[in-house]
Amino acid sequence: MTPIDYIDSYYRRTLQHDWTYPALQGHEHTDVAIVGGGLAGLTCALELAQRGRQVTLLEQARVGWGASGRNGGSVSPAWSANPSAILAKTGRDHFDALFRMSMEGVTMVRDYATTLAGDAACLVPGNLKVSVHDQADGFRRQRDDQERRYGRKLQYLGQTALRSLLDSPRYHQGLYADDGFHFHPLNYCQALARECHRLGVKIHEQSAVSTLKRANGQHCLTTATGRLTADTVIVCTGGYTDDLVGQLQRAFLPIATYIMLSEPLGDRLHAAIRTQAAIGDTRRASNYYRIVDGSRLQWGGHITTRTSNPRHIVHILKKELHRCFPQLGDIPIAIAWSGLMSYARHMMPQIGKINKNLWYCTAFGGHGVNTTAIGARTVVEGICGESDRYLRFAPFGLDWNGGPLGRAAVQLTYWKYQMSDRLRERHGQAQG
Ligand SMILES: Cc1cc2nc3c(=O)[nH]c(=O)nc-3n(C[C@H](O)[C@H](O)[C@H](O)COP(=O)(O)OP(=O)(O)OC[C@H]3O[C@@H](n4cnc5c(N)ncnc54)[C@H](O)[C@@H]3O)c2cc1C
Repeated sequence: MTPIDYIDSYYRRTLQHDWTYPALQGHEHTDVAIVGGGLAGLTCALELAQRGRQVTLLEQARVGWGASGRNGGSVSPAWSANPSAILAKTGRDHFDALFRMSMEGVTMVRDYATTLAGDAACLVPGNLKVSVHDQADGFRRQRDDQERRYGRKLQYLGQTALRSLLDSPRYHQGLYADDGFHFHPLNYCQALARECHRLGVKIHEQSAVSTLKRANGQHCLTTATGRLTADTVIVCTGGYTDDLVGQLQRAFLPIATYIMLSEPLGDRLHAAIRTQAAIGDTRRASNYYRIVDGSRLQWGGHITTRTSNPRHIVHILKKELHRCFPQLGDIPIAIAWSGLMSYARHMMPQIGKINKNLWYCTAFGGHGVNTTAIGARTVVEGICGESDRYLRFAPFGLDWNGGPLGRAAVQLTYWKYQMSDRLRERHGQAQG
């Protein structure tokens, strides 16, 4: 079988260490088996190993090969789901507990990135949310609310202050958070894997799990070249989930998103974007971008329910960029890539147990760097009997994804969002 390597991306091209791990061969036994070597799987492995548990991780390609090693690199508190939708399902105290957990996830990633990846993490502080409608009151309310409830210090930027950072006719106001940051996600995945390995975790790349069965009180996982038995299994397969566990396959939707990276743009980029922070806008189908490598623009956005060739999407991304920064003109693009996010219909992670010893930790959507970290920690706490924080995710179950109609509904909803975003922008309204 041909080994599957990382896709060509900015992160692949600037990968600092390319440690590899052998495929599973023959029969092995472990206490906990993890399927999937993205941020969810790697963080589960690390947190278990730190507690002295015996762990084996099986990854079909390379660690960080999926969304985790090719994302926008932006890390900030919050979940993928809209706060009002979470609040409606949970209530105030539960919502606040979840929000604080999302903050804990940011702290975990910062700490692990700093201690395990060091300079390779390329960590840059700062996260800037910008509004494409007039949202002055809403942003001020958010700033006050976040400080009162969670002690976060957000800086409100009116139009003039925002213009001093982003020379764009499109934006109205901004909210700057210095507890967020951006970084090199693939170097981070490699560093997590290395630490797991150092702590005794057995990592097997090129080891796609094709069957997962239960017999004689144990789980048995098979790959093309080996068999692993385990007392406990955690499935962390994200947007690349297949039919390994039917309940999971029926409960998620894979959604593709796209990133392009410019050639170095020199001073014209710095004249338009005068901040090093990661930037994301308030559109429901948002653009997310940042400066990397001195003067390259990394620009992400657009979603599809079937993966398209990223090169065919570049013109759509360029159109969005042009609407935000027309002065940049037609910038030269060095590379473009895509990745799959996993979304449940409720847009919250799916975290819990299918039976006593079969756990899942998946569906982190487009806000997955901090949430995989805390999601993984709650699962590990559950397995080790330390807490039942994983039950905070119980209101967001394994609802049916709607099958092929579900995909069509997502695509239609996205187009509806795009249309209503445009209409609101035209009329300068705040988002409801
Ligand atoms: C282009 C893009 C930009 C994004 N930008 C951001 C951002 O800026 N900030 C943010 O917070 N989030 C962002 N996200 C979302 C974030 O990257 C994801 O939510 C997160 O990485 C999901 O991690 P995961 O471990 O659940 O899944 P993945 O990283 O996708 O890992 C799942 C792994 O499981 C493996 N696998 C699947 N099936 C099997 C099997 N049968 N056997 C063995 N292995 C298997 C896959 O190969 C894969 O490596 C972005 C996502 C994309 C795609």
